[in-house]
Amino acid sequence: MRLKTSKENTEIIRAVQHIYDGVIIELDYETPFQLLCAVILSAQATDKWVNRTTPPLFERVKYPEDMKRISLDEVTELVKRINYFRNKAKFIHQTGIILAEKFWGIIPNDLKLIQTLPGVGIKTAKVVLSVLYDQPFVGVDTHIHRVCNRIGIVKTPTPEKTDKAIEKRLTLEQRKNMHHPFVLFGRYQCLARNPKCRSCVLKEWCNFYANTSMWVTSTPKTPLQ
Ligand code: SF4
Repeated sequence: MRLKTSKENTEIIRAVQHIYDGVIIELDYETPFQLLCAVILSAQATDKWVNRTTPPLFERVKYPEDMKRISLDEVTELVKRINYFRNKAKFIHQTGIILAEKFWGIIPNDLKLIQTLPGVGIKTAKVVLSVLYDQPFVGVDTHIHRVCNRIGIVKTPTPEKTDKAIEKRLTLEQRKNMHHPFVLFGRYQCLARNPKCRSCVLKEWCNFYANTSMWVTSTPKTPLQ
């Protein structure tokens, strides 16, 4: 199946944006540092679960400086209901201290620099910069990887390659408008196991739908036994 043209990509992104108009991110936070902590904690965990875990932590930690007044053991205890909690506690604790001591408590608006912080990989960096600084980055997770490949925006085997293909194929404007609506679209519409194709506004563009609806409507060449 062919890849979508740039014009089609714009129409697809607009259609998805229209559904999730105004929704930015489902993680709860009040300050930029809390957002960074929540995104680090959300690796391989659902946003809902992170939101259920973070209130006691965020009562004590609002700004990077606050990590200097709380021990690693206390942070670990506060996030212990999340998977990989020991590593994640270490990451957010160290990140807070580094931001406080080396960055005046400000999260750097720079893709390379922010990735020098513990626990901040490319996906986390892009999500945080797009939310905090409105940067045209797409933090490619499994949802975005799946949705983009099913529709035909990219044709890639891994999220890492999707990340690169998106940078290459999509314009700044397209990327800027894409991240949050596509995550939600993958989470609630284009599900991994049972995508809700019948009610989907992207049917006419979607390569996956074109293939699967053909299976359903065509007569098999060899009669089934
Ligand atoms: S038609 Fe189905 S597979 Fe295609 S984008 Fe919509 S939900 Fe996903």
